[in-house]
Amino acid sequence: MKIHEYQGKEILREFGVPTPRGEACFSVDEAVAAATKLGGKVWVVKAQIHAGGRGKGGGVKVAKSLDEVRQFAGQILGMHLITHQTGPEGQVVRRLLIEEGAQIAKELYVGMVVDRVSQRVALLASSEGGMEIEEVAKHNPEKIHTVRIDPVTGLEAAEASRVARAIGVPDAANAEAVQILQGLYRAFVEKDAMLAEINPLVITADNHAIALDAKFNFDSNALYRRPEIVAMRDLDEEDPAEIEASKFDLAYIQLDGNIGCLVNGAGLAMATMDIIKLYGGSPANFLDVGGGANKEKVTEAFKLMLKNPNLKAILVNIFGGIMKCDVIAEGVVAAAREVSLKVPLVVRLEGTNVELGKKILAESGLPIISGNDMADAAQKVVAAAGGQK
Ligand code: ADP
Ligand code: MG
Repeated sequence: MKIHEYQGKEILREFGVPTPRGEACFSVDEAVAAATKLGGKVWVVKAQIHAGGRGKGGGVKVAKSLDEVRQFAGQILGMHLITHQTGPEGQVVRRLLIEEGAQIAKELYVGMVVDRVSQRVALLASSEGGMEIEEVAKHNPEKIHTVRIDPVTGLEAAEASRVARAIGVPDAANAEAVQILQGLYRAFVEKDAMLAEINPLVITADNHAIALDAKFNFDSNALYRRPEIVAMRDLDEEDPAEIEASKFDLAYIQLDGNIGCLVNGAGLAMATMDIIKLYGGSPANFLDVGGGANKEKVTEAFKLMLKNPNLKAILVNIFGGIMKCDVIAEGVVAAAREVSLKVPLVVRLEGTNVELGKKILAESGLPIISGNDMADAAQKVVAAAGGQK
């Protein structure tokens, strides 16, 4: 689960990481009031969306007067902000962060992720802050310093200090940088993050280290014990279809193809998408109904897929191991009736009670196309969706 920058900064402050003073706003008037309250001469108006690259996309503007704060807030609120992480349609800006402008001497990068190979939290740090770290990793990998943190000792001050020096933090700001790195590590562990990033971590003209940006991604498996993180969730930033799916415990990811897939088991769902591609089609979604799919779940799954305007055909691919094929077939028939299905439906069933399942489909009177095996079903659904792309 992701959160906004201003929320990330609240967490950082809680762990002793210095950030610019700032306030979240939902309207132009609030933005001007926030800037007035902050005082000073320079403010930064920052779009709050769950995607990075806002600066380049025009979502971060430096204002030198309250009039400019008003002007920029008006421009940014409501805009479709397009960045390399939003996709071509962009993301509508509904919240702003107004913060005091920092005098930047250097922009550095620090981030933490879970490194599965070493089973530790890895600290990544670079002198090349402000830009996309992926680019640095690609072209100047030697500029990224990595430390795999021992969970027993945590991030020790000496180690943090060494990293700070390696990325060019001046000695005068070393102690602050250590505080930031240790604070970031504690926040990461104590809040069950999967990713935490300060990009840029800046050194100011008067040699202070501060976090100018904050990005967190939290482990959804740990949210049950982090109500304070769940409270930060912003549903406006999430795909409505995926929110709906999570209510019914369905794993659903919308894609840009036109063939809906309803499958049990994530592995089979991946294989189904692969084989659709192999035969020249393009999946409209990933959908795993899980092991215990019943009629209600299958119906909800159909409804979700049908909300997608690009949908041209549906492939149901079920392996009835724990679940019996006749139960699934009944679910599919009932769901197809309830949603009065208009697009072609190809069904491939295999496993326990498969004959009974096929009989239920055949006798339903619905125009269901039966697939004999995965390859056959995939070819049939690609044809039903209008052929190869
Ligand atoms: P994003 O990573 O989404 O582009 P950032 O918060 O990193 O957004 O901001 C982009 C750039 O804007 C930063 O690299 C920095 O140069 C500048 N910036 C951001 N916040 C401030 C601030 N409070 N004061 C001065 N400059 C800022
Ligand atoms: Mg940034």
